[in-house]
Amino acid sequence: MSAKILVVEDEEKLARFVELELLHEGYEVRTAGNGRAALKEATETQYDLILLDIMLPELNGLEVLRRVMKERPTPVILLTARDAVMDKVSGLDAGAVDYITKPFAIEELLARIRVALKLHPAAAAADTPFSSKPASEEGILTWGPLTLDDPKHRVLYSGHEITLTNREFLMLKTLLENMDIVLSRDTLLERVCGYEYVGETNVIDVYIRYLRSKIDDVFSVKMIHTVRGVGYVIKSWEENETK
Ligand code: CA
Repeated sequence: MSAKILVVEDEEKLARFVELELLHEGYEVRTAGNGRAALKEATETQYDLILLDIMLPELNGLEVLRRVMKERPTPVILLTARDAVMDKVSGLDAGAVDYITKPFAIEELLARIRVALKLHPAAAAADTPFSSKPASEEGILTWGPLTLDDPKHRVLYSGHEITLTNREFLMLKTLLENMDIVLSRDTLLERVCGYEYVGETNVIDVYIRYLRSKIDDVFSVKMIHTVRGVGYVIKSWEENETK
């Protein structure tokens, strides 16, 4: 049995496009074009994941989210507009597991879906094929010899402690949590500097440089990869070409 996904989106072309891509990936898909239909569908059937647009006719996506969380909790990825900062914050507060900003690359959406299903598998079908992801037990992220302990705010490489600033730590954590997913500078900026940050995205390049000087250079490893014109990625240890 494959994972069941509900796509809630009132822009028909976008809804159809996402539906076809998801079907192509082997998911079971249903769509809803307004808030009321979405709420009915999402509370009557247990979905493994809901992709939820926020600006919807009849019932706002955030309202749908709140009611679904109360009646039939389901992992939700929000589809948000670029400047809808408050929507993202309220959405995450209301229990959404992730969000993606429109317009998005379908590959990024698919990657986020895989991560969401992997991290929130309770309802997901047992045999859904997942990509190999780092074991993330109780806030511990690992990459080969590197361990990031979130609760203790510590990073160790083969037992050697690496001292990072808060933002460097957050940057490393974000990249590790999204292993094998290329993150754009915009995405990293939001996660690392917060929604309210106003400034140049090249501050991200500066943090990447600091991280490389503390990890890659010291331990002669190529951990953080640049994807030209897109952003940065940490590939899973097995996939990483230089170990
Ligand atoms: Ca909409």
